[in-house]
Amino acid sequence: MILLFFGPPGAGKGTQAGRIEKKYGLVQLSTGDMLRDHKKRGTDLGQKAASFMDNGKLVPDDVLVAMIKDRIQQDDCKGGFILDGFPRTQAQAEALDAMLSQGGLGIDAVIVLTVDENALVDRITGRYSCADCGAGYHEHFSPPKAEGICDQCGGHTFTRRADDTEEKVRTRLQEYHDKTAPLLPFYQGKGLIQTVDGMGPIEEVAVAIDTILAPFNVQGAKQGRAV
Ligand code: AMP
Repeated sequence: MILLFFGPPGAGKGTQAGRIEKKYGLVQLSTGDMLRDHKKRGTDLGQKAASFMDNGKLVPDDVLVAMIKDRIQQDDCKGGFILDGFPRTQAQAEALDAMLSQGGLGIDAVIVLTVDENALVDRITGRYSCADCGAGYHEHFSPPKAEGICDQCGGHTFTRRADDTEEKVRTRLQEYHDKTAPLLPFYQGKGLIQTVDGMGPIEEVAVAIDTILAPFNVQGAKQGRAV
Protein backbone atom coordinates (compact mmCIF):
# COMPACT_ATOMS: atom_id res chain seq x y z
CA MET A 1 0.00 0.00 0.00
CA ILE A 2 1.17 3.53 -0.76
CA LEU A 3 -0.24 6.12 1.58
CA LEU A 4 0.23 9.88 1.61
CA PHE A 5 -0.15 12.09 4.66
CA PHE A 6 -1.15 15.68 4.13
CA GLY A 7 -1.66 18.59 6.46
CA PRO A 8 0.05 21.77 7.64
CA PRO A 9 3.10 21.64 9.91
CA GLY A 10 2.08 20.42 13.36
CA ALA A 11 -1.00 18.56 12.15
CA GLY A 12 0.37 15.27 13.47
CA LYS A 13 1.51 13.66 10.22
CA GLY A 14 4.78 12.36 11.65
CA THR A 15 3.14 10.99 14.81
CA GLN A 16 0.44 9.13 12.91
CA ALA A 17 2.72 7.91 10.14
CA GLY A 18 5.12 6.54 12.77
CA ARG A 19 2.28 4.68 14.43
CA ILE A 20 1.15 3.15 11.14
CA GLU A 21 4.70 2.07 10.39
CA LYS A 22 4.76 0.11 13.66
CA LYS A 23 1.27 -1.27 13.38
CA TYR A 24 1.13 -2.23 9.70
CA GLY A 25 4.79 -2.58 8.68
CA LEU A 26 4.63 0.15 6.05
CA VAL A 27 7.86 2.17 5.96
CA GLN A 28 7.52 5.79 7.05
CA LEU A 29 9.31 8.09 4.62
CA SER A 30 9.52 11.51 6.25
CA THR A 31 11.27 13.91 3.89
CA GLY A 32 11.78 16.34 6.81
CA ASP A 33 13.61 13.63 8.81
CA MET A 34 15.62 12.59 5.76
CA LEU A 35 16.70 16.17 5.10
CA ARG A 36 17.56 16.78 8.78
CA ASP A 37 19.71 13.66 8.70
CA HIS A 38 21.55 14.89 5.57
CA LYS A 39 22.03 18.27 7.21
CA LYS A 40 23.44 16.70 10.36
CA ARG A 41 25.85 14.55 8.36
CA GLY A 42 26.88 17.55 6.25
CA THR A 43 26.29 15.81 2.91
CA ASP A 44 26.10 17.86 -0.32
CA LEU A 45 22.36 17.42 -0.27
CA GLY A 46 22.17 18.58 3.35
CA GLN A 47 24.24 21.65 2.59
CA LYS A 48 22.00 22.51 -0.36
CA ALA A 49 18.88 22.12 1.79
CA ALA A 50 20.10 23.86 4.95
CA SER A 51 19.41 27.52 4.15
CA PHE A 52 15.88 26.72 2.93
CA MET A 53 15.06 24.62 5.98
CA ASP A 54 16.53 27.14 8.39
CA ASN A 55 14.24 29.78 6.96
CA GLY A 56 11.12 27.64 6.94
CA LYS A 57 11.06 27.57 3.13
CA LEU A 58 10.57 24.55 0.89
CA VAL A 59 13.73 22.92 -0.45
CA PRO A 60 13.90 22.93 -4.29
CA ASP A 61 11.91 20.22 -6.08
CA ASP A 62 14.85 18.60 -7.88
CA VAL A 63 16.54 17.81 -4.55
CA LEU A 64 13.38 16.24 -3.10
CA VAL A 65 12.44 14.28 -6.19
CA ALA A 66 15.91 12.73 -6.53
CA MET A 67 15.99 11.88 -2.82
CA ILE A 68 12.56 10.17 -2.83
CA LYS A 69 13.18 8.38 -6.13
CA ASP A 70 16.29 6.83 -4.69
CA ARG A 71 14.62 5.97 -1.38
CA ILE A 72 11.52 4.21 -2.72
CA GLN A 73 13.68 1.90 -4.81
CA GLN A 74 15.24 0.42 -1.70
CA ASP A 75 14.22 -3.06 -0.62
CA ASP A 76 12.38 -2.07 2.56
CA CYS A 77 9.85 -0.11 0.48
CA LYS A 78 8.77 -3.17 -1.50
CA GLY A 79 5.98 -3.91 0.97
CA GLY A 80 4.57 -0.41 0.70
CA PHE A 81 5.30 2.94 2.31
CA ILE A 82 3.88 6.10 3.78
CA LEU A 83 4.95 9.44 2.41
CA ASP A 84 5.04 11.92 5.26
CA GLY A 85 5.77 15.41 3.95
CA PHE A 86 6.03 14.59 0.24
CA PRO A 87 4.81 15.76 -2.24
CA ARG A 88 4.56 19.40 -1.25
CA THR A 89 4.37 21.04 -4.68
CA GLN A 90 2.65 20.33 -7.99
CA ALA A 91 6.01 19.44 -9.59
CA GLN A 92 6.71 16.91 -6.81
CA ALA A 93 3.22 15.39 -7.18
CA GLU A 94 3.68 14.97 -10.92
CA ALA A 95 7.15 13.49 -10.49
CA LEU A 96 5.79 11.05 -7.91
CA ASP A 97 3.02 9.90 -10.23
CA ALA A 98 5.56 9.36 -13.00
CA MET A 99 7.97 7.36 -10.83
CA LEU A 100 5.21 5.19 -9.39
CA SER A 101 3.55 4.48 -12.71
CA GLN A 102 6.92 3.40 -14.13
CA GLY A 103 6.85 0.61 -11.55
CA GLY A 104 3.16 -0.15 -12.23
CA LEU A 105 2.19 1.38 -8.88
CA GLY A 106 -0.10 4.12 -7.70
CA ILE A 107 -1.17 5.94 -4.56
CA ASP A 108 -3.87 4.07 -2.62
CA ALA A 109 -5.05 6.86 -0.32
CA VAL A 110 -4.26 10.41 0.73
CA ILE A 111 -5.04 11.12 4.37
CA VAL A 112 -5.55 14.81 5.09
CA LEU A 113 -5.27 15.90 8.73
CA THR A 114 -7.30 19.05 9.30
CA VAL A 115 -6.41 21.38 12.18
CA ASP A 116 -7.37 24.68 13.70
CA GLU A 117 -4.47 26.86 12.60
CA ASN A 118 -4.68 29.06 15.70
CA ALA A 119 -3.71 26.00 17.70
CA LEU A 120 -0.80 25.10 15.46
CA VAL A 121 1.69 27.68 16.65
CA ASP A 122 1.22 26.54 20.27
CA ARG A 123 1.46 22.93 19.25
CA ILE A 124 4.68 23.39 17.35
CA THR A 125 6.54 25.90 19.52
CA GLY A 126 5.93 23.73 22.61
CA ARG A 127 7.18 20.47 21.17
CA TYR A 128 10.55 18.84 21.87
CA SER A 129 12.04 15.37 21.85
CA CYS A 130 14.48 13.14 23.67
CA ALA A 131 17.95 13.58 22.17
CA ASP A 132 18.74 9.90 22.79
CA CYS A 133 15.68 7.98 21.59
CA GLY A 134 13.62 10.62 19.74
CA ALA A 135 10.47 10.22 21.91
CA GLY A 136 8.27 13.28 21.39
CA TYR A 137 6.91 15.57 24.14
CA HIS A 138 5.05 18.85 24.52
CA GLU A 139 5.57 21.46 27.24
CA HIS A 140 1.86 21.71 28.07
CA PHE A 141 0.04 18.77 26.48
CA SER A 142 2.36 15.81 27.05
CA PRO A 143 5.41 16.43 29.25
CA PRO A 144 7.42 13.45 30.52
CA LYS A 145 5.93 11.80 33.64
CA ALA A 146 8.99 12.77 35.69
CA GLU A 147 10.30 16.22 34.86
CA GLY A 148 13.48 16.17 32.79
CA ILE A 149 13.52 12.37 32.36
CA CYS A 150 12.48 10.63 29.16
CA ASP A 151 9.61 8.17 29.79
CA GLN A 152 10.94 5.77 27.20
CA CYS A 153 14.70 5.58 27.72
CA GLY A 154 15.42 7.49 30.92
CA GLY A 155 17.53 10.03 29.00
CA HIS A 156 18.05 13.52 30.41
CA THR A 157 18.82 15.47 27.25
CA PHE A 158 16.09 16.99 25.13
CA THR A 159 16.17 18.84 21.85
CA ARG A 160 13.97 21.18 19.81
CA ARG A 161 13.84 21.56 16.06
CA ALA A 162 15.58 24.73 14.86
CA ASP A 163 12.56 25.63 12.69
CA ASP A 164 9.98 25.27 15.48
CA THR A 165 10.09 28.97 16.42
CA GLU A 166 6.98 31.13 15.97
CA GLU A 167 8.47 33.16 13.13
CA LYS A 168 9.52 30.06 11.19
CA VAL A 169 6.24 28.28 11.84
CA ARG A 170 4.44 31.22 10.23
CA THR A 171 6.67 30.99 7.15
CA ARG A 172 6.14 27.22 6.98
CA LEU A 173 2.37 27.70 7.17
CA GLN A 174 2.51 30.26 4.38
CA GLU A 175 4.51 27.82 2.25
CA TYR A 176 1.86 25.18 2.96
CA HIS A 177 -0.95 27.47 1.84
CA ASP A 178 0.85 28.76 -1.24
CA LYS A 179 2.37 25.55 -2.57
CA THR A 180 1.00 22.43 -0.86
CA ALA A 181 -2.70 23.00 -0.17
CA PRO A 182 -3.31 23.62 -3.91
CA LEU A 183 -2.47 19.93 -4.44
CA LEU A 184 -5.60 18.81 -2.66
CA PRO A 185 -7.91 19.31 -5.68
CA PHE A 186 -5.38 17.28 -7.73
CA TYR A 187 -5.83 14.28 -5.43
CA GLN A 188 -9.54 14.99 -4.92
CA GLY A 189 -9.92 14.64 -8.68
CA LYS A 190 -8.37 11.16 -8.43
CA GLY A 191 -10.81 10.20 -5.67
CA LEU A 192 -8.03 9.54 -3.17
CA ILE A 193 -8.69 12.02 -0.38
CA GLN A 194 -9.76 10.89 3.09
CA THR A 195 -10.14 13.66 5.65
CA VAL A 196 -9.50 13.22 9.37
CA ASP A 197 -9.98 15.79 12.15
CA GLY A 198 -6.45 16.11 13.51
CA MET A 199 -7.41 18.21 16.55
CA GLY A 200 -8.41 15.38 18.89
CA PRO A 201 -6.14 13.33 21.14
CA ILE A 202 -3.57 11.19 19.31
CA GLU A 203 -5.51 7.98 20.12
CA GLU A 204 -8.75 9.35 18.64
CA VAL A 205 -7.04 10.45 15.45
CA ALA A 206 -5.43 7.00 15.30
CA VAL A 207 -8.81 5.25 15.50
CA ALA A 208 -10.18 7.42 12.68
CA ILE A 209 -7.18 6.54 10.50
CA ASP A 210 -7.44 2.83 11.29
CA THR A 211 -11.09 2.94 10.23
CA ILE A 212 -10.06 4.42 6.88
CA LEU A 213 -7.35 1.79 6.43
CA ALA A 214 -9.51 -1.21 7.40
CA PRO A 215 -10.97 -1.84 3.92
CA PHE A 216 -7.47 -1.88 2.44
CA ASN A 217 -6.48 -4.92 4.49
CA VAL A 218 -2.95 -3.53 4.82
CA GLN A 219 -0.28 -6.19 5.21
CA GLY A 220 2.82 -4.06 4.84
CA ALA A 221 6.08 -5.84 4.24
CA LYS A 222 4.28 -9.17 3.93
CA GLN A 223 2.74 -7.98 0.65
CA GLY A 224 6.20 -7.95 -0.98
CA ARG A 225 5.18 -5.50 -3.68
CA ALA A 226 7.79 -4.45 -6.18
CA VAL A 227 8.50 -0.77 -6.64
P1 AMP B 1 8.92 18.73 8.09
O1 AMP B 1 9.75 17.94 9.06
O2 AMP B 1 8.07 17.89 7.22
O3 AMP B 1 8.17 19.85 8.76
O4 AMP B 1 9.97 19.43 7.09
C1 AMP B 1 10.97 20.31 7.59
C2 AMP B 1 11.54 21.13 6.44
O5 AMP B 1 12.15 20.27 5.47
C3 AMP B 1 10.51 21.94 5.64
O6 AMP B 1 10.19 23.18 6.26
C4 AMP B 1 11.26 22.12 4.33
O7 AMP B 1 12.28 23.09 4.44
C5 AMP B 1 11.93 20.77 4.15
N1 AMP B 1 11.06 19.80 3.42
C6 AMP B 1 10.55 18.64 3.90
N2 AMP B 1 9.83 18.00 2.96
C7 AMP B 1 9.87 18.80 1.87
C8 AMP B 1 9.32 18.71 0.56
N3 AMP B 1 8.55 17.66 0.18
N4 AMP B 1 9.59 19.71 -0.32
C9 AMP B 1 10.38 20.75 0.02
N5 AMP B 1 10.92 20.92 1.23
C10 AMP B 1 10.69 19.94 2.15
